[in-house]
Amino acid sequence: MPNSLNNQKPHEVVVIGGGFGGLYTAKSLRKANVNVTLIDKRNFHLFQPLLYQVATGTLSPGDISSPLRSVLSKSKNTKVLLGEVNDIDPDAQQVMMADKFVPYDTLVVATGAKHSYFGNDDWQKSAPGLKTVEDAIEIRRRIFSAFEAAERETDPAKRRALLTFVVVGGGPTGVELSGAIAELAYKTLEEDFRNIDTSETTILLLQGGERILPFLAPELSQAAAKSLEEFGVSVHTKTRVTNIDHDIVTFKQGDEVQEITSKTILWAAGIQASPMGRILAKRTGAECDRAGRVIVEPDLSIKEYKNIFVVGDLANFSHNDGKTLPGVAPVATQEGEYVAKVIQKRMRGKTVEPFKYNDYGNLAMIGQNAAVVDLGPVKLKGFFAWVFWLLIHIYFLIEFDSKLLVMIQWAWSYMTRKRGSRLITGKESLSFAKVITHQPKMENS
Ligand SMILES: Cc1cc2nc3c(=O)[nH]c(=O)nc-3n(C[C@H](O)[C@H](O)[C@H](O)COP(=O)(O)OP(=O)(O)OC[C@H]3O[C@@H](n4cnc5c(N)ncnc54)[C@H](O)[C@@H]3O)c2cc1C
Repeated sequence: MPNSLNNQKPHEVVVIGGGFGGLYTAKSLRKANVNVTLIDKRNFHLFQPLLYQVATGTLSPGDISSPLRSVLSKSKNTKVLLGEVNDIDPDAQQVMMADKFVPYDTLVVATGAKHSYFGNDDWQKSAPGLKTVEDAIEIRRRIFSAFEAAERETDPAKRRALLTFVVVGGGPTGVELSGAIAELAYKTLEEDFRNIDTSETTILLLQGGERILPFLAPELSQAAAKSLEEFGVSVHTKTRVTNIDHDIVTFKQGDEVQEITSKTILWAAGIQASPMGRILAKRTGAECDRAGRVIVEPDLSIKEYKNIFVVGDLANFSHNDGKTLPGVAPVATQEGEYVAKVIQKRMRGKTVEPFKYNDYGNLAMIGQNAAVVDLGPVKLKGFFAWVFWLLIHIYFLIEFDSKLLVMIQWAWSYMTRKRGSRLITGKESLSFAKVITHQPKMENS
């Protein structure tokens, strides 16, 4: 088994991915006697939990992104390479980029995951998901263009379709997006238009499962659904989307099939690992789950290659209580920190306890003064949960790039209900003014 953890030359650690998992691995190796190379196809770390704020015009992309070089500038043993890793040769111990090979003694793969269309990838064009800065800008374009086009539209049916927003998926992203769109429509934009009444906007949140935010205690899911309804979001649980064709969403509630026409359909469901999962499986024989996540050992390594670790959303770790750990930032950061410890301990010839995730709780934002926080015995909802959510996010953003100013600005825009980043940009910035090609088959409720 190739493993050169005990040799004399500087130990080379290559980390693929500068998200939460990769970045925390690299940061935790700052004082270790190793050389670290962090490779990412983007030159910045993206704070994904606040992407929905960019998509709905509260924050700008730069507010939630930190250049990897600056985050790691004090880690003198670490170099950052901008580029995409296309392949891995585990026997030669090197990763392949388009223009170079990078050798390693230990490899940490942290390339993440994204949403999944459950085999219906053709829905993506009509219903974009939220994962990257580009996704957020595209969603922002669609949301604000819909209001602009509605202002110009004289046909009531077409106008109704423009003022109908459908969000698919009742996890945190779906809840946050639909809550933020409700705030936009019913509060922020209230006085900004002359021909339309934005309070006539319809917002639907479609969730396949029995309840939204299923990872929370049932009473918090219920509280979140109630708050969303109060904000003006129509929450539909046990509702499966069966088709998306241009601006028509077909969904099934029990035996009843319905169609709704919406110019803005957003996707926030499912999980699909990044392609690096399949590449690892092919090259190392590692097993993947149905979502393409790599099934890892108790120490987050791969069975046949103890010097290759997988952390974060790309890893399927189920050695704590048999359940796969969720794809959330605290899991990725703790796994990154753990792997950094394993690398150092192995170099000293020491054994390492298996990874144990410390679950401090879950939280989700619904809208102004409304969030839900589940800390096990302590459960918060409403205003106090909202303040807690805010403080936690301030804490984590500051870690990255002194983003206190951003959070103050954000808190201010929340209180004043102003959204300063309502820009419509991109190549298709005016295309929304075109007429709708599909007529609604059913009157939107
Ligand atoms: C919209 C949204 C909202 C979320 N909200 C929350 C939340 O409120 N709370 C929470 O805890 N979690 C939330 N999450 C989940 C959280 O962001 C992820 O669990 C976390 O980012 C996973 O970290 P990671 O390091 O595994 O992957 P990522 O953070 O996705 O990082 C992967 C990195 O790998 C790079 N990369 C990928 N492929 C390659 C390649 N071939 N070569 C080079 N580089 C590559 C990417 O550019 C990226 O920088 C949210 C996620 C999304 C998308």
